[in-house]
Amino acid sequence: MAEHVKCLIIGSGPAGYTAGIYTSRADLKPLLIEGYQPGGQLTITNEVENFPGYPEGSSGPIIMDDIRNQALHVGTEMRTGMITKVDFSSRPFHCMLDGEQEIIADTVIVATGANARWIGMPSEQKFRGFGVSTCATCDGNFFRNKTTVVIGGGDTALEDALYLSQLCTKVYIVHRRDQFRGTMALQKQVLQTENIEVLWNTVPVDIVGEQKGFIKKVTGLQVKNVQSQEEQTIAVDGVFEAIGVTPVSEIFKGQLDMNEQGYIITQPGTGRTNVPGVFAAGDVQDPVYRQAIIAAASGAVAGIEASRFLLEN
Ligand code: NAP
Repeated sequence: MAEHVKCLIIGSGPAGYTAGIYTSRADLKPLLIEGYQPGGQLTITNEVENFPGYPEGSSGPIIMDDIRNQALHVGTEMRTGMITKVDFSSRPFHCMLDGEQEIIADTVIVATGANARWIGMPSEQKFRGFGVSTCATCDGNFFRNKTTVVIGGGDTALEDALYLSQLCTKVYIVHRRDQFRGTMALQKQVLQTENIEVLWNTVPVDIVGEQKGFIKKVTGLQVKNVQSQEEQTIAVDGVFEAIGVTPVSEIFKGQLDMNEQGYIITQPGTGRTNVPGVFAAGDVQDPVYRQAIIAAASGAVAGIEASRFLLEN
């Protein structure tokens, strides 16, 4: 039988959990669907220094646990699973959990976040999980005392390189320009770290590796200098891609307005989408800042807007 809720929150990053805190306190008795990897991108971030309330800094998983516990404490109901289908054509909205359980919701807050992007090199998927990864915090430990390379020049790449430099004998950064995109504080740390070498103006071409039966192993990364056009293969045991993210918005296509990259379009400062009663918060609607604290704040905004919407309708 279908379940009817006043507010359905889809997603369990800082935006979703904060929306849970605000809508619970507004007595909307929200149901929050956590997905199968609760906590979002912060759970794969090792050190976080810029989330307020943690004077010494903390780790992503600890911060996410704290926000989750706070949402539980004020009464947010949480459930593991995936929303597989939504129908926003009329209100109340119809959503499917794991393809079998129907949830009818008076308001919906979409906080599905974003996933790491892959470069698309010819051999990338073949070696994925065998030395090619998008998560240094998850997989770095397999490369203790080995050589790795991080691809990218943003905050994630810089943080990943710093994290790996503590485990690996040597870490390369392959960046396509002659300047990093990441914050100055991280840039300085990276450039001062002895076992990090930056290959500027360099793009990845392909993964080099070997396969014996089912065993696959990365042995290098083929790269090209975009100025000299020279190609070389750097000997590495692991390749970490950190080239940005893609919003998780596929199931809302055709129902919610999006930009060409798939970010849900919201009215500035409100979280309102083109469908009255459906709000979006966090990275799925933020192509610009993509910070945990901003995601949390937008979850608060969406929560307040959802409760106002219900009062007015
Ligand atoms: P990002 O800022 O979009 O940086 C992606 C990097 O990958 C850029 O340097 C880009 O090069 C490079 N790149 C993109 N496509 C590429 C391709 N096909 N081949 C080679 N290189 C490619 O992504 P991010 O580092 O994941 O950061 C995402 C957001 O999260 C940012 O807003 C960031 O500030 C935030 N973040 C914050 C923290 C923190 O505050 N502690 C930590 C992690 C992330 P170009 O520079 O040439 O474009």
